[in-house]
Amino acid sequence: MKRIIIISILILLILTISCSHIEDVTVPNGGVVITLDDHHFINWCQVDSLLKKYNWKASFCVSLIGSRSDLDIQRMHKLYEIGHEISGHGYMHVHSVLYAATYGMEKYIEDEITPMMDYFDAESLNVKSFSYPYGSRSNFTDNELLDYFDILRATSDGVRTAEKSKCYFDGSPIVYALGLDDYFYHSCEEYFINLLTYAHEEDKIIIFYGHKPIETVTGKYQVSFQTLDMICKYAYDNNMNFYTLSDLADMIE
Ligand SMILES: [Zn+2]
Repeated sequence: MKRIIIISILILLILTISCSHIEDVTVPNGGVVITLDDHHFINWCQVDSLLKKYNWKASFCVSLIGSRSDLDIQRMHKLYEIGHEISGHGYMHVHSVLYAATYGMEKYIEDEITPMMDYFDAESLNVKSFSYPYGSRSNFTDNELLDYFDILRATSDGVRTAEKSKCYFDGSPIVYALGLDDYFYHSCEEYFINLLTYAHEEDKIIIFYGHKPIETVTGKYQVSFQTLDMICKYAYDNNMNFYTLSDLADMIE
């Protein structure tokens, strides 16, 4: 009898866990999210003029908004008005887990989130997503930040095959983007095309991130125009839609 009760409880537990599993989100032909970090407004506008032929859209994840020039603020508005997303990337661009552990979560929100959102509000920008600086996140920071944002972007490493990579949207409000910057050891056209092909064939949405788009890469935290062009061209040629982080948030049930 005791055995039957234990087995019944186990079956119930398994059923509960499988019912609460987040359903994968699929879209016809798959999709692409491109996120670009920090505050490279001049380069972002340059790359927009190169990629608009593919009807691309991106999420620009803005850090240090309080110290940008008037011209940068104008460029930000221009990007927003033509349909790109402005995403939060920290008022000070701190390591969230470390900062919250050192000074407390309340102080982290007070220093890193509130002034940033006040700035965006004053500029009438509707900011619904946050991209973690350095990809630094924990369940604790996720839980806190989901009070302020609809979706949070962390980072994924590039050691996995497409099937095992975390850089596909699975319906969760925490997403993991794969780096496109040239200095990453996984950065090569063949790997990116492999992952894109998987997204296309499996109707999945792949999420990328990079920093400063530039014609010729000269250092770390730079993504070449060529890489971005190759990704957008693949998406365009294969009828894959572009999405922003907040578009993903709208798909979460
Ligand atoms: Zn950053």
